[in-house]
Amino acid sequence: MTPVEHFDVLIVGAGISGVGGAYHLTRQRPGTSFVVLEALDSFGGTWWMHRYPGIRSDSDLHTFGYRFKPWEGPPIATADEILDYMGEVVEENDLAQYIRYNHKITSTRWSSEDSRWTIEATRTDTGESLRFTANFLWMCQGYYRHSEGYTPEWPGMEEFQGEIVHPQTWPEDLDYAGKQVVVIGSGATTATLVPAIAADCQHVTVLQRSPTYFVPGRNRNDLAETLRELDIDEEWIHEIVRRKILHDQATFTQRSFDEPEKVKSELLAGVRAYLGADYDMETHFTPSYRPWRQRIAFVPDGDIFQGLTSGKASIVTDEIDRFTGEGILLKSGDELQADIIITATGFNMSVLGDIDIEIDGKPLVFSDTVNYRGMMFTGVPNLLWIFGYFRASWTLRVELLADFVCRLLAHMEEKGARRVEVALRPEDEDMELLPWIDPENFNPGYLMRAMDLLPRRGDKPEWQHSQDYWREKDEIPAIDLDAPEFLYE
Ligand SMILES: Cc1cc2nc3c(=O)[nH]c(=O)nc-3n(C[C@H](O)[C@H](O)[C@H](O)COP(=O)(O)OP(=O)(O)OC[C@H]3O[C@@H](n4cnc5c(N)ncnc54)[C@H](O)[C@@H]3O)c2cc1C
Repeated sequence: MTPVEHFDVLIVGAGISGVGGAYHLTRQRPGTSFVVLEALDSFGGTWWMHRYPGIRSDSDLHTFGYRFKPWEGPPIATADEILDYMGEVVEENDLAQYIRYNHKITSTRWSSEDSRWTIEATRTDTGESLRFTANFLWMCQGYYRHSEGYTPEWPGMEEFQGEIVHPQTWPEDLDYAGKQVVVIGSGATTATLVPAIAADCQHVTVLQRSPTYFVPGRNRNDLAETLRELDIDEEWIHEIVRRKILHDQATFTQRSFDEPEKVKSELLAGVRAYLGADYDMETHFTPSYRPWRQRIAFVPDGDIFQGLTSGKASIVTDEIDRFTGEGILLKSGDELQADIIITATGFNMSVLGDIDIEIDGKPLVFSDTVNYRGMMFTGVPNLLWIFGYFRASWTLRVELLADFVCRLLAHMEEKGARRVEVALRPEDEDMELLPWIDPENFNPGYLMRAMDLLPRRGDKPEWQHSQDYWREKDEIPAIDLDAPEFLYE
C-alpha cells in the first residue's frame, strides 16, 4: 500500500457539484489543502456517464451553470456542451491538479480520537488500494447509482427475443435503424431520447402508465439575445438573465401551489398547441397530480410533439401485463410489437455514493440520523452532503453550500475547533421525526423507493431540506454558526 496522504478537505466526486466545490475552495480558502476523488475517468458525472442519443439538460444552463462563469449558449444544452463548459472551468481555474480520476471510494471511518476521517479507495484502472485521511468530507457523489439504472421486474422479460436497454447504460453499438422501438416511461429522458431516434427507427412507441407535465418552448432566451445586441458584457448578461429566470420560476412555483388548476390548464394548453385540437389530450397528456410534484421537463421547440404529429412516434397510456417473445402485452389486451425495448424507468438512488461509513467503529445507519437543512446530519461530524433542488437548478444549491462550507471551515479555524457536528436542541427533543421529503410536496419514484434509506426530517426549518431556493438564498448565508445546534470541539 502507498503512503497515506492527508488533506484538510476531501471532496467525493467530480460532477458539477465536486468541480464547483473545488473552485470555491481555491477562491475562498486558498490555504486549505484538498483533493477530489472521482471514480470515473473524467469530470462531469451525470454528463460524462449518460451516453444515450440526444442527452441534454432539462433545465436552463444559465442557472445550471455556475454563477462565476457566464453561459453563452442556448438555455437547454447537450451533455457535450455541458462537458465543454465544465472543461473550461477546470482549465481556466487550474483545477485539474486537485482531481484524481479512477479513484473509487469504498469506505470511510471517522475517529473521534483523531478528529479525522480515514478514506479507503480503489483505483479502478489498476486495482491498487489507497488510503487517505481528511479533516472534513464534502460529499458530492450525486444521488443515483451510476453503474445501472432502475428497471422494474416484469413477468416474461426473459422471453423477449429483442434487446432490453436502460438509457443509463446505453450500448455504444445499439442499432435501432429501421426497428420497432418501445420506450417505457414518459419523463425527461423519454422526451429527450425519442426526438433523437425517431427519424431513424421504423416507429417509436412511448408506453406510459400515466401522463406527465411538459413545458414546450423555444430554446432561446430573448432577454439574453437583446442584451447581447446592446453589447452588454457577458458577465452582466449572465447575472441579469439568472435573476430573471429565477424570478419567473419563483412566480411559477408559487402559482403551482396557489392556483394549481389554472397552472395545469396553462401547461396543457402549451402541449395542445403542438398536438392540435383533435389529439386525445385527456388520455395521454393530462396528469392526475398537481403541477410540480415531479420535475417538469422543458421540451425545446416541442420536439417530442413534432414526432407524435409526424407519425414517427406514438404514445400509449396503459399498463404492462407481461413481456412476450415479440413485445409487450398490455393490461387492456393490446400488444406492442418491439425489436428493442428501452426502459426509461428511472434511477436507483445511491444515497452516499455506496460508501460504507463508520463512526467510531459503528456502521452509520443514515436513516437513524436527522438532517440539518439537508446538508449535515446528527451524529456525523465534519461532513457535508450536497443534494440540490428539484424545482430549481441543482447547481444553485451547490454554490450556496460551497459558501457555507468555506464559512464553516473559517469559523472552525477561528475557534481552534477540529470537529463540528449538528445536534438536536432541548426544544427539539419531542419533535416528531418524519420521512426525509414530504410525499405530498414531491414524490418521484426513485425517492419514494429510497425513503427508508434517507435521514429523518423534523418539523422545524433547521431540520428540513426545504427544497426552496428562494428562501435558502437568504437563510443559508445568514446561518449563525454559533447557534446551539452546532457543537464544536
Ligand atoms: C439525464 C439527466 C438530466 C438532468 N438534467 C438536469 C438539469 O437540467 N438540471 C438540473 O438541475 N439537474 C439535472 N439533472 C440532475 C443532475 O444529476 C444534477 O443536477 C447534477 O448533474 C448532479 O451533479 P453532481 O455532481 O451532484 O452528481 P453527479 O453528476 O451524479 O456526479 C457525482 C460524481 O461522483 C462520483 N462518485 C459517486 N460515488 C463515488 C465514490 N464512491 N467514489 C468516487 N467517486 C464517486 C460519480 O462517479 C460522479 O462522477 C439531470 C440528471 C440526469 C440523469
